[in-house]
Amino acid sequence: MTVIKSCLFSLSQNSNINKIANKMGPKIGIRSFIAGTNLSELETNVSHLNENNIAVTIDNLGEFVYFEDEARKATTNIIKVIEKINEKNLNGHISLKLTQIGLDISLELCEKHLIEILQCAYESKVFINIDMEDYQHLDSSWQIIRACKSQYSNFGTVIQAALFRTDKDINCNKDMRLRIVKGAYKENSNVAFQSSKDIDKHYLKLCKAHLMNGKFTSIATHDHNIINELIKYIEDNRIDKNKFEFQMLYGFRTNLQESLVKQGFQVCVYMPYGKDWYGYFMRRLAERPQNINLVIKQSLSKLFIKANV
Ligand SMILES: Cc1cc2nc3c(=O)[nH]c(=O)nc-3n(C[C@H](O)[C@H](O)[C@H](O)COP(=O)(O)OP(=O)(O)OC[C@H]3O[C@@H](n4cnc5c(N)ncnc54)[C@H](O)[C@@H]3O)c2cc1C
Repeated sequence: MTVIKSCLFSLSQNSNINKIANKMGPKIGIRSFIAGTNLSELETNVSHLNENNIAVTIDNLGEFVYFEDEARKATTNIIKVIEKINEKNLNGHISLKLTQIGLDISLELCEKHLIEILQCAYESKVFINIDMEDYQHLDSSWQIIRACKSQYSNFGTVIQAALFRTDKDINCNKDMRLRIVKGAYKENSNVAFQSSKDIDKHYLKLCKAHLMNGKFTSIATHDHNIINELIKYIEDNRIDKNKFEFQMLYGFRTNLQESLVKQGFQVCVYMPYGKDWYGYFMRRLAERPQNINLVIKQSLSKLFIKANV
């Protein structure tokens, strides 16, 4: 299983395959995990979730950005989604990756784009979440976050429990709204826990710490054992339901999402949208190779529906 996960993860980082995959576009099966390739499909899917009392965080897909015009285009597209959320009064916010808006080109360019996005989001009363990427982008990401924190408060970021350093990161950012995740990237044993047991233990510790800090916590996991333990912790410590939410990815564990809503918890679904599906999708397969079964099932059922079987 570890070898399959490593292969899938290396494939997710291949920019040549990414280019080919994007030209092909998301095919059936994959589409069940991507919330549309244009704004109108996105709006339909967001409205559907909102009607079921589920909020969304929208990720305008895009990776491997090494040219200024691509970073500019991504910034413009993110701003269009912010305007759409505001115009249609959708219950949603934005998730973005700093590499998408120029982190691999220059810190100055990335910061300039982020400030433009934060200003538009501020005027539109939309929250922005800065996703965390692999370890090599971590210091530069925090550098940009620190620079923007002095000017804007309408954004938060992500803490990856797999990393040793996150105890320090969470302590220095007690004043921020934070999403806690296990970590989607394969990192070296010098900087990250390698066993799922250690990652899960650290995940629970970080979530509990931030829940007690009193700032908003997004508990982003599909792991029912972790969710159950945190619900007990939340109840034992009488933590206000408005101070946290559960986050899951679009198309994953929808029954669990609905059950949490029924129990009165806030649920927010991460909605990847756009044509640049490859990197996002391959990381989902690397995290849980069983997801391939889900894709096959979805593809077959769509095929049968189309064929009227
Ligand atoms: C909303 C959201 C935002 C994220 N943002 C980031 C980010 O910015 N940066 C980053 O590095 N990572 C991010 N991630 C990815 C995250 O780091 C993990 O890689 C990913 O969530 C897988 O870990 P998990 O906690 O869901 O559970 P896993 O460790 O994958 O699974 C634990 C257990 O949960 C159960 N389970 C999991 N998935 C399913 C399923 N589909 N069906 C049935 N049972 C299942 C199984 O029993 C499994 O053994 C994000 C994840 C989410 C949900």
